[in-house]
Amino acid sequence: MNTEKLILDGACVANDIKEQLLSRVKLLAEKGITPCLATILVGDDPASATYVRMKGNACKRLGIESRRISLGKDTSTEQLIAIIQQLNEDSDVHGILLQHPVPHQIDERAAFDAIDITKDVDGVTTLGFAQNAFGFAAYPSCTPAAIVAILDYYQIPIEGKHAVVVGRSPILGKPVSLMLLNRNATVTICHSKTKNLASIVGTGDIVVAAVGKPKFIQGDWIQPGAVILDAGYNEGNVGDVDYEACLLHASAITPVPAGVGPVTIATLLKHTVDAAEQLAFLR
Ligand code: NAP
Repeated sequence: MNTEKLILDGACVANDIKEQLLSRVKLLAEKGITPCLATILVGDDPASATYVRMKGNACKRLGIESRRISLGKDTSTEQLIAIIQQLNEDSDVHGILLQHPVPHQIDERAAFDAIDITKDVDGVTTLGFAQNAFGFAAYPSCTPAAIVAILDYYQIPIEGKHAVVVGRSPILGKPVSLMLLNRNATVTICHSKTKNLASIVGTGDIVVAAVGKPKFIQGDWIQPGAVILDAGYNEGNVGDVDYEACLLHASAITPVPAGVGPVTIATLLKHTVDAAEQLAFLR
């Protein structure tokens, strides 16, 4: 069992990303451009409202404009797509974020895919996913990108490692698996139908938890020295990993809160600034 433990501090990584953005936002301001992120919230889910508010506040602190669009819970797919199309055509808007999940009557995939690829700073479109899978330039999903950013910040090698990803959602498990694969990890993707989950997780040099179940990954599943990235965020500020138990076996681990979450938000800001720079460059 390892004695050296590295707590992967998401606040530290997020601050590093945001510090680098400050000078870029200033340069854009000199060109008369303020990066602008439009966030769309449909319905009245309190957790989603909190996430959108947090993202808006993070924008403001960095000099990025945050334009919030709140729509009623009875909004139809067509109405939502019409709003997205207006934002696509608005040259003052550089990034569009549709807060997930949307009310059940909405075709979320159709709404995500209505976002122009150049404004898909949250990395939710099918086209963006495919481009990332092929290793082409496109904004990756923010949480997967945050996971890779944390590994890079702490100079944790990815190449040749066995990464076990628990979860295969289109915004998290699948894209992070492909990103790790593109960085030459050997990747195993687990899901709700996976057999012998504990023993598979036990072969991971890198374990990514993206399950949506509090404290799901158990300490005695973890091989000594593994690196654990907990993307989970459940009620009561609890991750998908049994943190205390996993800490005993891991060499490095992200806490919840202050692990993957803040880096996800910083990544969203970075993508918005990237998108604004892209426009400035094209002008
Ligand atoms: P999701 O869409 O519900 O996907 C959950 C995944 O976990 C599915 O692929 C599911 O498998 C798998 N799963 C469920 N039960 C399992 C079991 N018993 N054994 C193995 N796999 C199982 O969730 P998500 O949107 O990816 O989110 C996952 C977590 O990340 C949540 O806690 C969420 O709050 C958090 N999250 C955090 C951030 C952040 O910024 N930190 C951003 C997004 C999400 P099937 O495909 O077979 O159903």
